[in-house]
Order: sequence, then C-alpha cells, then structure tokens
Amino acid sequence: MENIKANTVIVGSGVAGLICALTLPSSMKVILLTKQKLEDSNSYLAQGGIAVKNGFGDKDSFISDTLKAGHYKNNFKAVETLVEESPKAIKSLEELGVKFESEEGDYSYTREGGHSKNRILYCGDFTGKAIMNALIAQVKERKNIRILEDCTMEDLLVKNGVCYGVYGVANNKGLFINGKSTVIASGGIGGIYNNTTNYKHIQGDGVALALKHNIKLKDLSYIQIHPTALYENTRKRRFLISESVRGEGAILLNKNKDRFIDELKPRDIVSKAIIREMEKDKVEFQWLRMNLIEKDIRTRFPKIYEYLRKIGLNPYIDDIPIVPAQHYTMGGIEVNLNGETSMPGLFAIGEASCTGVHGKNRLASNSLLESVVFSKKTADFIKNITKEEVNINDFQIGVSNLEKKKDIIKEGIKNDEFTKIKLLNNR
Ligand SMILES: Cc1cc2nc3c(=O)[nH]c(=O)nc-3n(C[C@H](O)[C@H](O)[C@H](O)COP(=O)(O)OP(=O)(O)OC[C@H]3O[C@@H](n4cnc5c(N)ncnc54)[C@H](O)[C@@H]3O)c2cc1C
Repeated sequence: MENIKANTVIVGSGVAGLICALTLPSSMKVILLTKQKLEDSNSYLAQGGIAVKNGFGDKDSFISDTLKAGHYKNNFKAVETLVEESPKAIKSLEELGVKFESEEGDYSYTREGGHSKNRILYCGDFTGKAIMNALIAQVKERKNIRILEDCTMEDLLVKNGVCYGVYGVANNKGLFINGKSTVIASGGIGGIYNNTTNYKHIQGDGVALALKHNIKLKDLSYIQIHPTALYENTRKRRFLISESVRGEGAILLNKNKDRFIDELKPRDIVSKAIIREMEKDKVEFQWLRMNLIEKDIRTRFPKIYEYLRKIGLNPYIDDIPIVPAQHYTMGGIEVNLNGETSMPGLFAIGEASCTGVHGKNRLASNSLLESVVFSKKTADFIKNITKEEVNINDFQIGVSNLEKKKDIIKEGIKNDEFTKIKLLNNR
C-alpha cells in the first residue's frame, strides 16, 4: 500500500478540479487524481458556452434570470457572487489561454433558454473542449501538481470526524493520499441514468461517499433534464444538441410538425412540454427544425453538424429527432461560498457541490461559470489551512462498490419528479 502526501488532494479533472489546482500557489504540493484520462470529463463535452455579465447594466437582469430559472429556490448570495465575479472568471480563463469567439474586437455573445439577453461566450460548439485543452496544457506545466490518471477515489480518510485525504485505487493497487485539505470535484450523478448526456463513469462517487460519512447534502432531488438530446436507438450516452441551436433560431415540432412551446423558456419548462407531447402522441421523440437558423450551421455548429452527417441526417434538410435526457445535478454536497462542507478538512466544488446557486433548475451556461468562480474562491480559502500529521493505520477503509453507490444515490433522489418517467430510466 503506497502512502502519498500533499498539501491538497483534488478529486476530478473537470473544469472545477483544474481551476482549483491552477489557482493554488505553486509553493503548495497538489495531487490531482482522476478516474480515467484528464480529458474524460463532462466539462470537456460542454458545447453551448459560459455566461457572463454583459456590461454594467446587466447585473440585475442576469441575477433575475438565474433566480427565475431556479424557481426562486436559489441561494441569493451565491447568485450575486456568481454574477459579480463572472467578468473576472472570464479574464482568468483568457489568461490561461482560452480564446472566445469575437467579431471586430468585441466578444460575440449568444443566447440560450431563460436568458433575457445575449450574454453567453462560446468557442464554436465545443466550448468545453477549448477551455479544457487550455487548462490541461497549463496543469501539465505546473511542477507542483502531480496528476494521477486512471485512479479512482474509493473512500475518504476520516478520523474523529475530520477528513485527511482519500483512499484511491490505481491498477488494482490501493493508495493512501493524505492532504491538509481534500477537494471533491468529482462531478454530478448523471452516469447512474440510462438516458443521459453525461459520461457514464461520472456517477456521483463524491455524493455517495458524503452519504456514507454523514456529510450534509442539499437538494439532491433537483435534477435537470435537457430538452434536446439527439434520439438514437442505442444505450450509449446521448449526444447533446446544444440549447444555443434554439437560441440561434431552431424550433421544436411535434409529430404533426406543429410548434407547441416557446423554445427559449427555461429547460425544465421546455422538457416538460416535450414529454407531454410525446405522451399525448405516444412517440419516443419530437423534432427539432434547424434549417431556420440564419447563420451557417456548418460553421456555427461544426461538431453538431459533423455528428448529424455521420449518422445520415442533414440539418439543412432534415428535422432532427430529439428527446429530453438527464443532464445536470443541481444538488450535491452542501457547501458555503468557500467550498467548505460539513466535515472539517473536506471541500467540494463544481457539479459535485451545492452552493444553492442554481436553485431548482440551472440557467443555461451557468455551470462552467459556477465551477470557475467558486473553485477559485475555494482555492483562495484553503491555501492557508494547516493540520497535524496523521498515521495511515488510523483509517478504516470500506471499498464501495458501484451497485451500492447507485442504490444509495437513487434513494437520495427518489423525490425527483422526472425519475418517475419511465422513458428516462428504463429504455
Ligand atoms: C453534453 C454536455 C454539454 C454541456 N454544455 C454546457 C455548456 O455549454 N455550458 C455550461 O455551463 N455547462 C455545460 N454542461 C455542464 C458542465 O459541463 C458541467 O456541469 C461542469 O463542467 C461540471 O464540471 P465539474 O468539474 O464539476 O465536473 P466534470 O467535468 O463532470 O468532471 C468530474 C471529474 O471527476 C472525475 N471523477 C468522478 N468520480 C471520480 C472518482 N471516484 N475518483 C476520481 N475521479 C473521479 C471524472 O473522471 C472527471 O474528471 C454540459 C454538460 C454536458 C454533459
């Protein structure tokens, strides 16, 4: 059994984990473990973009859109922080090498459902990939960050109610990874759903361990269903058709090719309308008409175009079959704005955490932003933490198996109104 020591242990290589690692001072030794390769995160899959306050006059309207989408169940202080710190978050991404689309020296802003104005920055329809490639390049350069790929957090190291790191497994070998602070950035719970846009290996491991160790969770039943995942007759992860496709003019049609909803309403409202039409028409999907988009589809949405062509659909001619799918976990490990959980020594950021910023339903393009804003704040907070040394023999480790994890989490989300819908679970 190997024993590794660091100042900070970070679990997960999505945007949250990488921003936290890159914000910590280079004098701190950081271990970043990730279940598969660095690139294998939901962050990498993000298409639409990242929201930002668009000019001085936009603060109140951005806050109001976020609260409205969240059914006013949001933590107001978290929303205010998100909006106020959004320009700084974008600047820090640019300093790390990310280049957002611009026109004649000004940013190009796009729009998605629930936003009352254009305030989303993007890189084609591969914003996540563009951001993550820049961050991954930076993390690889940093001498103070040791990356452990293909290493799975199986448990937390807990003594007298305090967290001292994680127990990881790599190549069937156990590792005690001890840190003065431990940061869970292991993403949401999407992988436990059959019908999801998320990577299947990202299945709420952080949340399951929080449940095991009686760490407080919040709003776990708030699950976001994305209205427009591509309908394919397979059990794979569903390919997403970004909301910005509707923001740029695409419309939704039912079986009879009639329009039935304002496409730019928040996601939960559009998803429910689609499901209602599907049930009424007794069909497994509805249609998205993309050929009304004024911009050139091939250049504005190159990855979506490429994928559709690969499976024999032409968005200039064909209506595209779509179905709602699990997409995002609003709830998670309860944290304050510095990422502190109810267990001393343990922090959570990104989709694994819940500051309450999204309320009951996340406004489109607010999650990349949330990860950047609150991961930076968490890193700033933990850099001053000190703790006494511990002996690894003090820890009792129970290796958690996947099926058990699924059962624990399913119990936690049993109130989610969408899980009752057969279509989402048992295709
Ligand atoms: C298809 C798609 C499109 C999206 N588009 C957008 C968008 O346009 N704009 C937007 O704001 N948001 C978007 N989102 C949401 C957004 O990408 C994520 O919510 C956000 O990036 C979450 O970041 P994260 O770092 O918290 O987690 P993730 O990016 O999910 O990363 C989690 C990491 O934890 C690792 N991990 C998990 N379990 C373990 C374990 N036990 N041990 C070790 N490592 C572990 C994973 O391997 C992964 O590296 C999209 C999501 C999807 C799926």
